[in-house]
Amino acid sequence: MLLRGETREDDNFMCFTKHEPVGVCGAIIPWNFPLLMFVWKVAPALCCGNTVVIKPAEQTPLTALYTGALLKEAGFPPGVVNIVPGFGPTAGAAIASHMGIDKVAFTGSMEVGQLIKEAAAKSNLKRVTLELGGKNPCIVFADADLPLAVQEAQKGAFYNQGQCCTAASRVFVEESIYDDFLRLSIESAKKITVGDPMDPCTSHGPQIDRQQFDTILELVESGKKEGARLECGGYAVQDKALIIQPTIFSDVKDHMRLATEEIFGPVQCIMKFKSQEEVIERANNTHYGLAAAVFTRSVERAMRVSSELEAGTVWVNCYNALHAQAPFGGFKMSGNGRELGEYALAEYSEVKAITIKLNDQLTV
Ligand code: NAP
Ligand code: MG
Repeated sequence: MLLRGETREDDNFMCFTKHEPVGVCGAIIPWNFPLLMFVWKVAPALCCGNTVVIKPAEQTPLTALYTGALLKEAGFPPGVVNIVPGFGPTAGAAIASHMGIDKVAFTGSMEVGQLIKEAAAKSNLKRVTLELGGKNPCIVFADADLPLAVQEAQKGAFYNQGQCCTAASRVFVEESIYDDFLRLSIESAKKITVGDPMDPCTSHGPQIDRQQFDTILELVESGKKEGARLECGGYAVQDKALIIQPTIFSDVKDHMRLATEEIFGPVQCIMKFKSQEEVIERANNTHYGLAAAVFTRSVERAMRVSSELEAGTVWVNCYNALHAQAPFGGFKMSGNGRELGEYALAEYSEVKAITIKLNDQLTV
């Protein structure tokens, strides 16, 4: 456990460190994974001896409240986990600016992340960790296992209806396999079972709400206008049920909104590249830096490309392979700090160095 300290000594002094709780930890979470986000914040906070005030998203308060009932049943003392459903500009902002809250952990949009940091700075300089999404490159080299790359890239694009901070929203494919990759991706997308999420056969259901649904379809329109090629999908299967057919655009160019904005919907954007050097530069040409993926059979290339990608997570020959032990978080404007693994514990503890002068006065 990271909560162990370190010791240093010389002839006159012994110094040791202790990891202590930060205190009251605020958490503001989004709607796309309401249980997971709750646990990613609350579990490390409690492990390190803190208490928590958590605000779920307006779309998904019941998951948090139900989990609260389970925490109560499990015997957590009153006041350790406090759940405050409410809206962002009121309940969320109150957490970010509260003088009695020592740290805030936020997951959501970059714009709100900036507000959180500003509010923390203007109140008590509380510690801030942020996870703010991405525009994640998924790079497929000509030497990759093609069916595997098609399957994983598509899982990356469409998982949870594309409502994922790690969504593979820029798929770069090497020129010589581009046509085959595209053909196989279209065939695969057309086979996805779309419909009622309560039907066990369904693998692709509705978007979270009308606002997100409209934003996604507006971005699809922008892609058509800007000259990307709509290969399949691009329309609402059922307008009332907010379901969007899995969508693929080819010939997406780096300057298009499809390639620069977080879509948060089931839209796979496929782009062509010629060389390794070029694709690394294009992949890194974004303010985001959350996740990236590389598909290749060459260990040398996998190592070199993953070292050069500006992202907190790089997957090689897989996608969305998250593990509770592996730290997760962003480079650049995708955020600060890490969740999961031992690194998460560092975000929920303060380090204290205690230095003792060794002399005869100290007795046990
Ligand atoms: P959002 O506005 O950033 O919401 C995330 C959380 O922050 C919610 O709990 C929200 O409360 C709260 N919030 C909103 N304004 C706040 C403020 N001024 N102060 C404190 N807290 C505030 O995200 P969204 O509107 O739900 O989604 C918009 C876009 O954000 C998506 O299209 C996507 O691009 C991105 N997003 C990213 C992630 C991610 O995993 N990184 C997750 C969700 C969304 P409310 O209950 O009022 O919404
Ligand atoms: Mg919102």
